[in-house]
Amino acid sequence: LDFEDFSLKRELLMGIFEAGFEKPSPIQEEAIPVALTGRDILARAKNGTGKTAAFVIPALQRINPKSNKVQCLILVPTRELAMQTSQVCKTLGKNLGINVMVTTGGTLLRDDIVRLQEPVHVIVGTPGRILDLAGKGVADLSECPTFIMDEADKLLSPEFTPVIEQLLQFHPNDRQVMLFSATFPITVKAFSDKNMDNPYEINL
Ligand code: AMP
Repeated sequence: LDFEDFSLKRELLMGIFEAGFEKPSPIQEEAIPVALTGRDILARAKNGTGKTAAFVIPALQRINPKSNKVQCLILVPTRELAMQTSQVCKTLGKNLGINVMVTTGGTLLRDDIVRLQEPVHVIVGTPGRILDLAGKGVADLSECPTFIMDEADKLLSPEFTPVIEQLLQFHPNDRQVMLFSATFPITVKAFSDKNMDNPYEINL
């Protein structure tokens, strides 16, 4: 299977090749075609497998750059991972004309509020800060169809699970949830049972 076989936008395909990717990794081969249909995805995946591009590519394919709405939310447990993940979005999406924003706790809320006065298509960040922005009406997720969680085993602590579930309420009902996790503790299983719709399971 080749990246050409996914019927991606030409600009996205160019970004993938410019990043030096020649062939989809196994997790990309399995996740991308299913994710492109809009189905929920529950994937067990370790770092180094190409998991980031496995969710970023279908998420970017779905974005309409002409709309100024937030169209993809990516939740991660740490600022460092947020920076890395946003860099993947920017690299693969560099020909799409989209804006990617990172927001995490420990930075000035004011800066995020100012940033969100300009169009932002993808938000990558930690749950608490994003809930703050959504709750204040600064980040509008009402037309954001894609909700992604990476390192979900770290995200779904007793403290953060309710925050994440609250955040989901700001999305449209027919949103797509993609959950990636290295391990599947009971917290992850409980979350997917409650908040995901017939997810396609990937176990590599
Ligand atoms: P990840 O598992 O998402 O942290 O990715 C691990 C590394 O693999 C990163 O440096 C990616 O840039 C790289 N990578 C991801 N997908 C591919 C691919 N299809 N071909 C070559 N390298 C890739």
